[in-house]
Amino acid sequence: ASINEYYDIAFKVMLLGDSAVGKTCVLVRFKDGAFLGGNFIATVGIDFRVRERPKIWDTAGQERFRSVTHAYYRDAQALLLLYDITSKPSFDNIRAWLTEIHEYAQKDVVIMLLGNKADMAAERVVKTEEGEKLAKEYGVPFMETSAKTGVNVELAFHAIARELKHRA
Ligand code: GDP
Ligand code: MG
Repeated sequence: ASINEYYDIAFKVMLLGDSAVGKTCVLVRFKDGAFLGGNFIATVGIDFRVRERPKIWDTAGQERFRSVTHAYYRDAQALLLLYDITSKPSFDNIRAWLTEIHEYAQKDVVIMLLGNKADMAAERVVKTEEGEKLAKEYGVPFMETSAKTGVNVELAFHAIARELKHRA
């Protein structure tokens, strides 16, 4: 099915996770089928990137911006929660993110856990099974993605879209 088929219902997806896990790159990869490396993208506060439909918000993970982003949680129908498979702290913080999500997001929000930078096999410190286990504990779907190679990026957004459409 074409991607437009999934998007005939407008919905709002927000990307969450620690700084530098790859939120902006995943979004750019999804939007443009491109990968921007290095420090090309400077995310300040909320990156407000809007594709006609769906509306996808990109946020900075920094603590000091949290108060700003809380307001956006309430409007999001889906949350993509990212960690970096080469960063243990980013994985350990997922629990804190989920606590925050349960506090601020809509009760029926669609959540998906993504272990990003799957292309960096040599630097991996978080095992696939650890991601799977955590996702299972919270009852959310899980995938490993790479904004660099594009692996599973479209698939993740499609899965979210399918779930939202199913609920609509
Ligand atoms: P954000 O702070 O979560 O928005 O993270 P960015 O999207 O700005 O990415 C942070 C850094 O990680 C940048 O240097 C990106 O080039 C790099 N990066 C993001 N995603 C990937 C990925 O899937 N693979 C690799 N190898 N690098 C990535
Ligand atoms: Mg960013």
